[in-house]
Parts: sequence; structure tokens; C-alpha cells
Amino acid sequence: MIVMKFGGSSVAGAERIQQVGRIVASRLSQKPAVVLSAMGDTTDHLLEAADRALQEGLVSIETIETPHRETMRALALGAEVQAEAAALLGELKSLLTGISLIRELTGRTRDYLVSFGERLSVRIAAAYFRSINLQARALDSWDIGFISDSQYTAADLEKDSWRLIPQALNPLLAEGILPVITGFIAKDRKGNITTLGRGGSDRSATIIAAAMGAEEAQVWKDVDGILTADPGLVPQARPVELVSYEEAAELAYFGAQVLHPRAMQPCKKTNTPVVVKNSYNPGAPGTRIVPVLNQRAVLVRALTSRRKVTLIDIVSTRMVGQAGFLEGVFSAFARHGISVDMVATSEVSISLSLDVTEGLEALTQDLEKIAKVEIKTNKAIVTLVGDVSRSSEILQQTFGVCAALGVQAQMVSQGASKVNISFIVDDSQAAMAVKALHKHYFETEALASIT
Ligand code: ASP
Ligand code: MG
Repeated sequence: MIVMKFGGSSVAGAERIQQVGRIVASRLSQKPAVVLSAMGDTTDHLLEAADRALQEGLVSIETIETPHRETMRALALGAEVQAEAAALLGELKSLLTGISLIRELTGRTRDYLVSFGERLSVRIAAAYFRSINLQARALDSWDIGFISDSQYTAADLEKDSWRLIPQALNPLLAEGILPVITGFIAKDRKGNITTLGRGGSDRSATIIAAAMGAEEAQVWKDVDGILTADPGLVPQARPVELVSYEEAAELAYFGAQVLHPRAMQPCKKTNTPVVVKNSYNPGAPGTRIVPVLNQRAVLVRALTSRRKVTLIDIVSTRMVGQAGFLEGVFSAFARHGISVDMVATSEVSISLSLDVTEGLEALTQDLEKIAKVEIKTNKAIVTLVGDVSRSSEILQQTFGVCAALGVQAQMVSQGASKVNISFIVDDSQAAMAVKALHKHYFETEALASIT
């Protein structure tokens, strides 16, 4: 079997749902289970409605009701699903009325509230699928074993789910049923609705794929997969065919719009491939995220950059040994709850990069007790993900490109994960560096000789 997950923009409205229907219908032989997000921006609209109820005592579900009704009308769906949707919308309205009266919104209520998005989308999509003769059944995730802890707004599934999910889904698949399952939501043992955190439906899909031992988890988005660079910055960016979990995680961490590392985790555990596909362009191959890449033919697989980075140079003012000095520096960061991205050290100095630009005064005062501190703002991190066992070649070529542009690397680090090389440049030069590096690694004839 396979799991096919469609995000909010892939199910935003009648035409998009029809397209999902075509994509799913073309893959029935692979025994899909479908996982859906809420339609379009429904989750945001639900949270906005809650806010209005909470702050102003206003109860309005129009921004949620209208698009759903419109979609059902445009898909010519029958009375049964319209009644189901009306019941959910009614329940939502009562909940908002409750919030407007007691003027309180706990995490638990918030999760209950946003759950209506996914509960509506699966019912509407499944009804449409049935209208095109697919044997679809809408399922709330708790009906197929999604039991979570009670950490509202950021819940995690309990171990039992791994056993319960196949127990529930296998018989349905055997009957030829197409399960259409809510992403994002679950229930705790007390029966309260929980959510896996914003963007959590990718994780719902990878959990199902992993628990089912699926052939693959397909995550359908509105881009052609993981790209060699941010297309907003580099129009020539193209999809990467194959990446390892580790590489994809590094890319996500350093700013690429990919799957969140947490979303990939369940499939990583079971070595299940995750494929990122484009529902607007289903013919495109997409990106396959796999456990390990045997042929490391490519020197650099993708690059990314992250802006608004701060660089801190700390030089010890005391003749303390390095261990004591590093300990002093890191405990100051820990005390102020500021996490560090990149680090480079020598015996008496240390350079660190942070993704915060403000609120560093207290930290600086603390650090100044043991060191001279210099803060440099308006920096950016450029990250190359690739075959770091050939790091000298990558460094040579990368800094050759940078030197030709007059771009100075102010700090360099090679990730311990051995798949990324990152360096810091002035923010004003980051775009230029990324474009030139993309040209060097992905757009020139040189590529043929590198690979
Ligand atoms: N609908 C939820 C959100 O917007 C979950 C998801 O789309 O993954 O965060
Ligand atoms: Mg969404």
C-alpha cells in the first residue's frame, strides 16, 4: 500500500479536490490510503474566529462556512454530506459561542476547535470521490487508532497506535475501500481531541506509512519537490531527484521549504521512502527521500540560505583553559535560553551564530564578565548539502566562486552530520553568493565533470 497526503492548498476548493480525485484514481492499484489537511487556510480561519470570540465576544463562522458550502455546491455533492457538514458547522458555532461567553481558550479547546477543518475536508473529499465511483470512506484519525498524549497543540502519538493503525486499516484496504483520513488531529486516552502541532498532517501521513509498512509515503504539495535552491532567489532552481533523510533534514533546518525533520522521523525509523510530489504538476517525478544514498555521484545536492543571522565573536579576557572558557560561554547561553546554530572555536576565542537579532543585551552583559564580546548583525548562513566526504573539493570550488565575487566567508562549519557545509556572509551578499553557487554547481557545463 501507499499513503498519499494532500496539503491545504491541494484541497482548497472544488477544482483542487477534482484534481486530487484524478491523482488518487490513477494510483488505485497501489492500494492508497489518503490523508488530508484542512481545505486552504481553514486552520488559520478557525483560529481567527476563536480570537474574535475570545477578544470581542463575536461569533462568526462565515470565513469557514462559505468556502466549504461553495465547494460542496460546485462538486454537486448530495444531501447526506451536506447534512454532516452542517452538523459539524453547528457544533463549531456552539463551541465559539462558549468561548465568547467564558472568554477563555485553553489548549484543549483550541485543538477541539481547529479539528473541524480536517473533519470537514475528509468528509467533503470522500463524498466527491464516491461521486466519481471510488469506494471512499471518510475517517477521523481516532477511528484508525490515532491515540495521543494530552499535550494539547503539540501532541505525540502513543505507542499503541503503531499496532492499532494496521489493525484498523488492513481490513478496509482488503475490502477495496479507499480510506480518506484526517491529518493533524488525534484523541487522547480521555477522549479529548488533540493536534500534532501546526503543519502536523505530514507527520500523520508518515506515521501511517511507517505503521503500515507502506511502500512509500507520498506528500503532495504545490512545488515540484525539494529544489536545488529557493526558487524565489534562483529562478533556475530545479527539483532534486533523490536525497537522504539526513540531507533533507539539514535543508529543512537551514531554511529550505521542505518537510520538517519531525515529519520525516516516523518513516526514517522504518526506512520507508517519502516522496514529495506536486499536485499541480503530477507528472513531475518529485523528490524521493530515502534512508541512504549508495551512489554519491553528486558533489552538491542542494543549497539554501537563511537570513537575519547574528554572529557573536567572544574573546577570552582571562588566561583560563579552553574547557573552562567554553563552559562559561555555553552556560551563559543556556541561562538566557538562547540556542546556537554554528560554532567555531580556538584556544581563547569562540564565534557563534544565532538566529535571533534582538534581546541579546542581558546575554552580552553576562558574557562580558569573562570575555570581550562583539556582536555582528545582518549576516546570513549559506548551506551546501552534499557529499562531505569530498569536502576539500566543495570548499575549494565554493570559496573560489565566493572569492571571485569578493564575498568573504566570516565563519565556516562542516556539520557533524557530514552532509552539510555552512558559512556566514554579509546578509547583503547572500543572494548574490547563492545565485553564483547555484550557477556553478547546477547550471554550467562544469557539472558534467564534477559528477
Ligand atoms: N491544517 C493544519 C495546519 O494548517 C495541519 C496541516 O495542514 O498540516 O497547520
Ligand atoms: Mg494547513
